[in-house]
Amino acid sequence: MKIVPQSQYSYANRVARIALKGFEEVLGRKGLNAVLSLAGLDRWIDQFPPDNLDEEFNFADFSAIYQALEEMYGARGGGGLAIRAGRAAFDDILNEFGSQLGTDQLSFKIMPQHEKTKVFLINANAVFGGISDQQASMQETEDGFTLHIHRCPACWGRTGLDRPVCYFIVGMLQEGLKWLSGGQDCYITETQCIAMGDTVCEFRIPKTVS
Ligand SMILES: [Zn+2]
Repeated sequence: MKIVPQSQYSYANRVARIALKGFEEVLGRKGLNAVLSLAGLDRWIDQFPPDNLDEEFNFADFSAIYQALEEMYGARGGGGLAIRAGRAAFDDILNEFGSQLGTDQLSFKIMPQHEKTKVFLINANAVFGGISDQQASMQETEDGFTLHIHRCPACWGRTGLDRPVCYFIVGMLQEGLKWLSGGQDCYITETQCIAMGDTVCEFRIPKTVS
């Protein structure tokens, strides 16, 4: 596997810890260890990042995990597992960052669904931007929202691909929308990806799910 060189960008340990727990839930400890080993990340085997907000988990490490998943399980299988891991991680994200995301406030709870989705995306970009070097923005369109990630840990350092690969983020968004809509499944698509040569990773999110 082509190892992605370490970047100057990183994410808070707590988020990386939650992501690794999501992978462990889907792959089992043994499966995760095999992926980490293939990714050249032996330092995280049986030792997750500490539970703090120090920004020490390198973007290249996230990207290497997804790449190793695809090597082991094929592009389709690996992508599906990353989506499931993203979905599994969402609950912990909500538990750990709910107050900063504003989701535990009464005013949020009584908003209409499209308003909730909008506020959630705005707050999530601010919260994650504050504890990482990730840069993202959100635009409202007629039928939904477009999330642009300008500096993306999920595909960091990957190039020349013919398909989008930021599956973990797709999974988190899918689970997030399910939660925001009171349990409806929804389909999120990644329509552009920096690994394909696009300038941003772009995700399309419907305004309401029903
Ligand atoms: Zn990406």
